[in-house]
Amino acid sequence: MDKISVAAARQAEAIGRQVTLQGWIRTRRDSKGGFSFLELNDGSSQGNIQVIADASLANYESEIKHLSAACSVTVRGEVKPSGGKGQATEVLASEVIVHGWADAENYPLQKKQHSFEKLREWAHLRPRTNTFGAIARVRNCVSRSIHNFFQEEGFLYIHTPIITASDCEGAGAMFRVSTIDPAKPPLKEGQIDYTQDFFGRPAYLTVSGQLNAEIFACALGKVYTFGPTFRAENSNTSRHLAEFWMIEPEMAFYELTDNMDLAERFLKRVFRDALDQCGEDMQFFNDRIDDTVISTLDAIITSSFERVSYTDAIDILAKSGRKFEFPVAWGTDLQAEHERFLTEEHFKRPVVLYNYPRSIKPFYMRVNDDEKTVRAMDVLVPKVGEIIGGSQREERLDVLQTRMDEQHLKAADYWWYTELRRYGTVPHSGFGLGLERVIQFITGMQNIRDVIPFPRTPGNAEF
Ligand code: ATP
Ligand code: MN
Repeated sequence: MDKISVAAARQAEAIGRQVTLQGWIRTRRDSKGGFSFLELNDGSSQGNIQVIADASLANYESEIKHLSAACSVTVRGEVKPSGGKGQATEVLASEVIVHGWADAENYPLQKKQHSFEKLREWAHLRPRTNTFGAIARVRNCVSRSIHNFFQEEGFLYIHTPIITASDCEGAGAMFRVSTIDPAKPPLKEGQIDYTQDFFGRPAYLTVSGQLNAEIFACALGKVYTFGPTFRAENSNTSRHLAEFWMIEPEMAFYELTDNMDLAERFLKRVFRDALDQCGEDMQFFNDRIDDTVISTLDAIITSSFERVSYTDAIDILAKSGRKFEFPVAWGTDLQAEHERFLTEEHFKRPVVLYNYPRSIKPFYMRVNDDEKTVRAMDVLVPKVGEIIGGSQREERLDVLQTRMDEQHLKAADYWWYTELRRYGTVPHSGFGLGLERVIQFITGMQNIRDVIPFPRTPGNAEF
């Protein structure tokens, strides 16, 4: 009796095998002929396997006939060809062992469909639903694909710190990390004295691993980070979390166009792997969540991203004849409505926007010869908007210092960052991709809170 997964037992190759399956009951149906159909799921695939439990089994009357959704069982039996529609196999049980009962009266997921809002209140139960099982499998597939892509391209995986004293130039509001007793903090001239705190200085949860990744790129060539990032911004949107996972490649000797090429190749690879390796789950998202997800990914994989400068984008927006809530003018940051117009309506494909005004971008982005713009790039996709933000970094020490002055940054706080430009500086580039925004795009899920196992947002951290 081989212990195999439900996914394996559903394959025609399994026919004839004696197997042990372990999982949870989804439904039970009793037939008049004196046997029951059990739908069993173990998380290995979207589909269940049908188990036939005959009345001749010793515990048929006492246990099997009382099974309901969520009961956990071990089933032993033979895999048979199935007569039913949409399934190749079924299992004829020789033994059904019940491990845990689930009171059908009280089990919250017993009956009707619940809204995603409701399911957020039950983060301990929602992985048992079809949708959240599928999201977990797609998220796993995407994570594997990300590592495979970079490993195959010769990148080193670098573990950048989660606790940091630098703020990556205001990429977002930060959470403080401190062991000071808030009831009696050490004071100096009326202010909290952080020199007496754990790290001897103010410390925070990281908003980005970029500056640390640059250190390694400037020594080892091509590197990437993939870890949690934290932003204390109080934005209650469907695209922002306070804790999210970010992938940040950083490459020595890469200019902005190399950076764009990498971003495009990378996204296409991740999308292709999701379609190839999560076929059943993707079909589920297409049927139940958004009937354009598969055709959209297919189209993206086979066509190229549109590359447009910020200046041209402003022109397109100004001439669109569209009334935007936020007016469009050269020098202002683009709002979500502008980004979505460009990618969803104007170009109808992913768009790489580049060369933004220097005044709205951080000090580390490389200044162009026009002195007005910097080599920034954002990748925008329909429905989600920005999924990648990146740039070529300023490798010239004097220009970097000018930019820091311009933005009133203290050179002393970045002494190690500027030293990278003092000793063997190189042109280099990188970007940040939000994992949850990719999962949203692939699955068509509307709210980012539903594509991370345990969402952290303002006021929410229960589970
Ligand atoms: P946005 O303008 O959407 O708030 P940002 O410009 O602040 O994003 P970056 O600092 O460029 O974001 O971060 C790189 C990537 O990380 C973004 O392109 C996005 O995919 C993701 N990201 C940023 N902030 C969040 C967040 N709060 N929750 C989830 N993903 C995020
Ligand atoms: Mn950005």
